Amino acid sequence: MQVIKSIDQMQETSDLLRMKGKTIALVPTMGFLHEGHLELMRVGKRHADQLIISIFVNPRQFGPSEDFDDYPRNFEGDLEKAGRAGVDIVFVPPAEEMYPFGFQTSVLVKDLADHLCGLTRPAFFGGVTTVVSKLFNIVRPHMAIFGQKDYQQLTIVTRMVMDLNMDIRIFGVPTVREPDGLAMSSRNGYLDPDERISALCLKKSLDLAGEMFASGERTPKAIIGAIAACIEEHPFTRIDYVNLCDPVTLEDVDVLGEETLLALAVWVGKTRLIDNCLIRENIPC
Ligand code: AMP
Repeated sequence: MQVIKSIDQMQETSDLLRMKGKTIALVPTMGFLHEGHLELMRVGKRHADQLIISIFVNPRQFGPSEDFDDYPRNFEGDLEKAGRAGVDIVFVPPAEEMYPFGFQTSVLVKDLADHLCGLTRPAFFGGVTTVVSKLFNIVRPHMAIFGQKDYQQLTIVTRMVMDLNMDIRIFGVPTVREPDGLAMSSRNGYLDPDERISALCLKKSLDLAGEMFASGERTPKAIIGAIAACIEEHPFTRIDYVNLCDPVTLEDVDVLGEETLLALAVWVGKTRLIDNCLIRENIPC
């Protein structure tokens, strides 16, 4: 496995691979790899000749009061996991190369970013789409793999690729969970043991909504009310949002139809967790 730390070298390497007719899959990450990331890598490995992952804690997607400095990092551990997952190249660009003096361009996907996480994290999606565009231009992948855990991010990146005619296939991979249901996240390590128990309210909320839908409930107000009550029963929690929305436009729905996205963000102590599921006829969350 090769570790590349310069943008020029990454571009040259990818050009060479493309000239040799190799297909390239990219898995962009912020590191501190867990089983969710590894699942994305497995999908990439299955579909391409060369699997490249990037590890970059992108300063531009963190707000001023967010956890950029504290974000967990473990480069050596990540290399070991990537090696075992069969990664061919780990791209680790330095921030000074990604955002040199004078950098002033942003890629913005407008309407989709005006919902859910975009409301309480106004800088977030602009930071994501800008860095993902840069990574696409540097790594020049044929395909890129993202997690459905970050459903809005996946939707926005897919829209960006369509709108800007990027010739890249986007894969969305189902959320990987701990045995007790908590969605895996690099931020789960922030939780103390009591908060870790409270954090189960996210998955419980998804299950509760699925059960209500299965027994005929179609009113967002009733489902959101029940979820709020469920979350509030758990200590240390504070709801950021609970929304039932259209899975394509992310706009709130008035009534649950054939397929509705339930998306939630909940603070557990100082940790903000997100989760989501598609609520559909006869398919559990
Ligand atoms: P991050 O390192 O948190 O920026 O995540 C990198 C990629 O991994 C994103 O596409 C995430 O959606 C995906 N990801 C993170 N957690 C999970 C999970 N539990 N299951 C599946 N994909 C995930």
